[in-house]
Amino acid sequence: MHYDYIIIGGGIVGLSTALQLQQRYPDHKILLLEKEDALARHQTGHNSGVIHSGIYYPPGSFKARFCRAGAAATVAYCEQRGIALRRPGKLIVACDQHELLRLEKLYTLSKSHGLATAWLSAGELNEQEPHIRGLAAILVDSTGIVDYREIVRQLARDFAALGGRIELNQEVISLAETRDAVQVRTARDEFATRFLLACGGLQSDRLARMLDLAVDFRIIPVRGEYYRLPEHRRDLVRRLIYPVPAPDMPFLGVHITPMIDGTITVGPNAVFAWRREAYDDIGKERPGRSVRDAVDSVTFSGFWRMGGKYWRFALGEAINSLSKRGYLKSVHKYCPELGVEDLQAYPAGVRAQAVTRDGSLVHDFLFAESPRTLHVCNAPSPAATSALPIGAHLCDKLAASGRY
Ligand SMILES: Cc1cc2nc3c(=O)[nH]c(=O)nc-3n(C[C@H](O)[C@H](O)[C@H](O)COP(=O)(O)OP(=O)(O)OC[C@H]3O[C@@H](n4cnc5c(N)ncnc54)[C@H](O)[C@@H]3O)c2cc1C
Repeated sequence: MHYDYIIIGGGIVGLSTALQLQQRYPDHKILLLEKEDALARHQTGHNSGVIHSGIYYPPGSFKARFCRAGAAATVAYCEQRGIALRRPGKLIVACDQHELLRLEKLYTLSKSHGLATAWLSAGELNEQEPHIRGLAAILVDSTGIVDYREIVRQLARDFAALGGRIELNQEVISLAETRDAVQVRTARDEFATRFLLACGGLQSDRLARMLDLAVDFRIIPVRGEYYRLPEHRRDLVRRLIYPVPAPDMPFLGVHITPMIDGTITVGPNAVFAWRREAYDDIGKERPGRSVRDAVDSVTFSGFWRMGGKYWRFALGEAINSLSKRGYLKSVHKYCPELGVEDLQAYPAGVRAQAVTRDGSLVHDFLFAESPRTLHVCNAPSPAATSALPIGAHLCDKLAASGRY
């Protein structure tokens, strides 16, 4: 079977890319391959559901550009397609003098991004959110919430309506690039395509390695564990409540998030993990893959260098993951009234975090390419918010290279 484009990955980045390609090239034959039996089974289906504003990211980075554009595009798409969405806004709360200094820098950054933010004193914070304490807070009005699985389902319907094809249960196991085409082999079939786009999330390094791309990173899984608050706590907060993030880490810290279905979650933490796809609902049945995941991590020199750099953070998160009391400490500093009895089980997610050979965590979105392939290598948060501009970026890269 011969296609013009094959996209690997039925997460939000793959679907966004597939739809926008089909919109640009309505006559082209486009196929999306997903290894699971449904779309959005990995990061896209296990996240906080936040439409981020883009406040944290350095000017000029892909994250800063795509997150701001993505927030607007996501809201517009949801409104157009009737997907439930709310914009309660969020508060970033500083609880000590160190955090206050970092909050001030964040406030300045928010203004340079042109975001509508407001500085709240301790009193104003307490007035807005009576259950939350802090020395000061930034209010980011535009932050929203949505169910990204709903967006993926709609993107898939729109893609199929334009003639695009999606095949589930098709795990790509090998790739071979020639001068004229890319051969794509799955466990069941073989396909050829003029051009390939890999949006494989937690498997992005393996997909790049199938083609021997000169990339210097490996995906290290970072588990994000959540709790759910009981029904009687549903009026605890009106807005999303975030701590000031730890310096130099790409994770935003355990936050309180009212979800679009009315649930309030607490989380996620960031625990360096051995398994890439072990969730509470899927992945348990794949012990062979878990061994491969662990071997891939420990045989990568960057993994050990990362341990040397971030061991203090990693150890703290690992300890708090084992004890609800430890976990609660990170929440108590801004919401002291929650107790261990308030933390109910909720499914975890696993972030695909690219780490380079020198042990650095890659903060920005990362792309790689060969003559007939484009790869999304690092697309952690806020890539769900940013998925529409990431898809447009990939389409633009194809068009600019004349390879469409
Ligand atoms: C705990 C957590 C909280 C987050 N919170 C937010 C948030 O609030 N807001 C936000 O914007 N972002 C958030 N993110 C980030 C966001 O969820 C991800 O950045 C985004 O979903 C990435 O989408 P993706 O399509 O690249 O990856 P994925 O959703 O992981 O999709 C990749 C797909 O590729 C498939 N695949 C991989 N290899 C193959 C293969 N060989 N053959 C066929 N198919 C393959 C996989 O099965 C998978 O379906 C969060 C992430 C986590 C984990």
